[in-house]
Amino acid sequence: MYEWHWHIEWQTPYEFHGHAITKVIAEEKTPYQRALLVELARFGKALILDGKIQSTITDEFIYHEALVHPLLLSISSPEKVLILGGGEGATLREVLKHKTVKNAIMVDIDPVVIDFAKKYLQEWHQGAFDNPKSKLVIEDGYKFIKETKETFDAVIIDLTDPIKDSPSQMLYTKEFYEEVKRISKWGIVTQATSPSFSLETFSIIYNTIKHVFKKVSAGITYVPAFDGLWGFVYASDEVNPAEFSKEEINNRIKERIEGSLRFYDGETHITMFSIPKHIREVLEKE
Ligand code: SAM
Repeated sequence: MYEWHWHIEWQTPYEFHGHAITKVIAEEKTPYQRALLVELARFGKALILDGKIQSTITDEFIYHEALVHPLLLSISSPEKVLILGGGEGATLREVLKHKTVKNAIMVDIDPVVIDFAKKYLQEWHQGAFDNPKSKLVIEDGYKFIKETKETFDAVIIDLTDPIKDSPSQMLYTKEFYEEVKRISKWGIVTQATSPSFSLETFSIIYNTIKHVFKKVSAGITYVPAFDGLWGFVYASDEVNPAEFSKEEINNRIKERIEGSLRFYDGETHITMFSIPKHIREVLEKE
């Protein structure tokens, strides 16, 4: 029997996944959430907020590339991009790979998570916070959206899951998506929880957004550290990433991305938007 400390992550109220912890790097109770930075035996360095793994050094590239690139590549020339949440700085890193991007504004509510990221998650942000195109705002994303006079080519929503009493709860509502639509010229994307463990929540997010935007598509991929499929919802009145061919995506990556991608290419794109029948049936039930 190994003498590990365990991170117990509840996937649903009646099942959990246990991750062996080899080292606790930092821990803090912030005004918004409990932030924990650990080394996991299987996945290495990991950020955990309120008991939920946000990302691990081993496979964060899957989640962050899947979140950012389908939307930004579907837009003809994204220059000004807003990120809501995105604590680790890896979403910012992926946005900055787009040669057309001139301004990337990231709004996260929790300065402690940002301090953790700057201090311990260099492998995630890779200096993105110091890029002259980046601007970091510490504020509630909903408040920022309501008050800003600016518009953005794309809005990328990278928040913690919509759990009761979490700081992100209100940022999954129809009212919020209406405000986001007001300030986004071409489209938005949000992480949308797990089709494996919370298919109903995934479907609610997808259908809530469908009431606000004309073209809405769901994308999924497997993230090992999340122990299941992860879902994303891309929305716009103008463009639909799901309609792009493998060849078009590969061409756009070649023309528009600086640096390398490990997960996303034309072939991966097709798999992300090939949703299995049983999931499609739930999404289309409403
Ligand atoms: N990959 C993650 C996942 O699987 O859920 C999400 C990544 S990121 C760490 C989530 C960020 O959302 C955190 O840094 C948190 O502080 C931020 N956040 C939560 N509620 C927020 C709000 N109302 N406004 C802005 N940022 C918020």
